[in-house]
Amino acid sequence: MPEDTLYLVLLGGPGAGKGTQADRLSAVLGTPHVSTGDLFREHLKKQTDLGRLAKGYMDRGELVPNEVTVGMLRERLLQPDCARGAILDGFPRTVPQAEALGELLAELGTRLAGVLYINVPADVLLARLSGRWTCRSCGTMYHQRYSPPAKSGVCDKCGGELYQRPDDTPETQERRIKVYVAETAPLVDYYRQRGLLVEIDGLPGIDQVQADLLAAIRALPVAG
Ligand SMILES: [Zn+2]
Repeated sequence: MPEDTLYLVLLGGPGAGKGTQADRLSAVLGTPHVSTGDLFREHLKKQTDLGRLAKGYMDRGELVPNEVTVGMLRERLLQPDCARGAILDGFPRTVPQAEALGELLAELGTRLAGVLYINVPADVLLARLSGRWTCRSCGTMYHQRYSPPAKSGVCDKCGGELYQRPDDTPETQERRIKVYVAETAPLVDYYRQRGLLVEIDGLPGIDQVQADLLAAIRALPVAG
């Protein structure tokens, strides 16, 4: 594997805009956005060996062991489009997973170039997440504060009824954010101690955060 690889990890809470930013970075940098959530869905849908293994744990209400997730990630990173790098989203979430990722990349003859942490305070995450409304007919998403429909409760596109998914209630979101904060703090410390962490203020708009992320990536030692 060449020296100028660019493997990045994107960290950010639910509602921090991580997925959107990963897609945009992928388009600019030409390296794939590798979301472990997508990998799971794909493996489950195609009923691969890893997918079946993962499903067994999930059906029993157990956590999927790191080896299974790392197996999916290894397979993905060995595909030709990842040879020059990838933007990892959704993994690692914990310090043991971060260690596993380090080992995997070493096995592939490379290493992490940097970890970009889109930092948004917990109360802002909650405000962003708990105001989401979805159209029953066409699935378009709205936000009562950031992207409200013209008429409350009615879809602009199709006139359908807007509803709040159970996932989008303040109680559910508050729990999600608490779990996220508890999990992520040690991970942020782990990468900071290794000099890999770059913190990006996630409060400005999507375009500003995007520009800050790109500037941070270009300032990384290996990306120059
Ligand atoms: Zn609609």
